[in-house]
Amino acid sequence: MIIGIPREIKDHEYRVGATPAGVRALVQAGHQVRIERGAGARIGFGDALYAAAGAQLMDGAEDVFACEMIVKVKEPQPSEYALLREGQILFAYLHLAPDPAQTRALLQRKVVGIAYETVTDAQGGLPLLTPMSEVAGRLSIQAGATALEMSHGGNGTLLGGVPGVAPARVVVLGGGVVGTEAARMALGLGADVTILDISPARLRQLDALFGPALKTRYSDAHALEELCREADLLIGAVLIPGKQAPKLITREMVRGMKNGAVLVDVSIDQGGCAETSRPTTHTHPTYVEEGVVHYCVTNMPGACARTATQALTIATLPYVLEIAKQGYRQALQRNPGLRAGLNVHLGQVTNAHVAEDLGYPY
Ligand code: NAD
Repeated sequence: MIIGIPREIKDHEYRVGATPAGVRALVQAGHQVRIERGAGARIGFGDALYAAAGAQLMDGAEDVFACEMIVKVKEPQPSEYALLREGQILFAYLHLAPDPAQTRALLQRKVVGIAYETVTDAQGGLPLLTPMSEVAGRLSIQAGATALEMSHGGNGTLLGGVPGVAPARVVVLGGGVVGTEAARMALGLGADVTILDISPARLRQLDALFGPALKTRYSDAHALEELCREADLLIGAVLIPGKQAPKLITREMVRGMKNGAVLVDVSIDQGGCAETSRPTTHTHPTYVEEGVVHYCVTNMPGACARTATQALTIATLPYVLEIAKQGYRQALQRNPGLRAGLNVHLGQVTNAHVAEDLGYPY
C-alpha cells in the first residue's frame, strides 16, 4: 500500500505520524511511504533519516494526500479538508463528537476515518489514546505548576511546598490514564493529591497502586464542589469514549475556587469537563475566568513532540501494518478493536456516540 505522512499544521504541532523507525518497518513490509519534507525536522527526525529509512520525500501536502492511506497525528485542519479523497483511509486522532465542522467535511469527502482515540483492545482499553494520555497526564502537572506561578496569573503556590509550609492541594477529576499519570507526577513533587472517579473498582486499583499517599474520593457533585473550593490545581481528566466530555465542573464551582487557582482541563479535546473551559493553543495556552487560570490546550503532547511521536508510533505501527497488509475492510473485519475505531465510512457516521452527539443516523 502507498502510505502518506503529511507535515502537521495545527498550532505548535511538531509530532509526526511515524518515526523513521516506523517508516523503516513499513518499507520492510513491502509498502511505500511518502512523507512531506520537513515533517520531523523540529524534533530531530530530519528528512535524511526518513530517506535512509526508505521513505520518498514529497515537496507539498497535495502529493502526500494523494496516497491510499494517510497516517497522521491530529485531525485534519480546515485547509486540509479539500485534499481528502473519496475512499481514502484516514488514520489519526479525529475527536469528532465536539467538532461538527470536521465531521461534515469527512462525510462530504467520503473518507474512511479510523480514529485512534476509539480503537479498543481485548481488555476494553484504548491502546492508541493511552500513550498520548500518559504524556498529557504527566505534562498536566508541569503545565499546572507553571500556571500557578505569579507571572502566569496563578496564586503563587509551589506544588511541593517547603519544610514548614503546606504543599499545594491538587485535585484530579477522573482516574484513568491521564489522571493516574497526573497523580503520579503531583505526588512525586510532594503535593497533597486527591483523585475522583465514578468507578469504585478504579478507585481500588489506584489505592493499591499509590497507597495512602493518594486520597481517593467517589466522584459526585457534592465531593467535587467541596474539593473545588480547596484546590490550588484542578486537573480535568474524565472520558466517556467517543462522547463529549460531561460538564461536571459547573461555573458555580469554578466561582467557588480560590482566586488564582488553576484548572488544567485535559479533557478539552472532547469538549472539556468544565462549563468555563474553551479550547486554547500552545501559543496562547491560558485565560482567566471567574478568577481561575484555565489551561485548555487541545494538543498537549505536541509540547513534547519527540517523546510523544516515539510513544505514538510504538502504539500505532502494528495497526498501520495490519491495515496496509490486509486492506481496511479485511483488517476491520478481523480485528473488532480496530473496527471500534471506524468513526466515518464513505459518507456515513459509524460511531454511535458521534452520531448521538451530532444528530446523525446510526
Ligand atoms: P480513561 O478512559 O483512561 O479515563 C477516564 C476516566 O474518567 C475513567 O477512569 C472513568 O471512570 C472516569 N470518569 C468517567 N466519568 C466520570 C465522572 N463523572 N467523574 C469522575 N470520573 C469519571 O481516559 P484518559 O485516557 O485518561 O483520557 C482522559 C481525557 O484526556 C480524554 O478526553 C482524552 O481524550 C483526553 N486527552 C487530552 C489530551 C490533550 O492534549 N488535551 C491528550 C491526551 C488525552
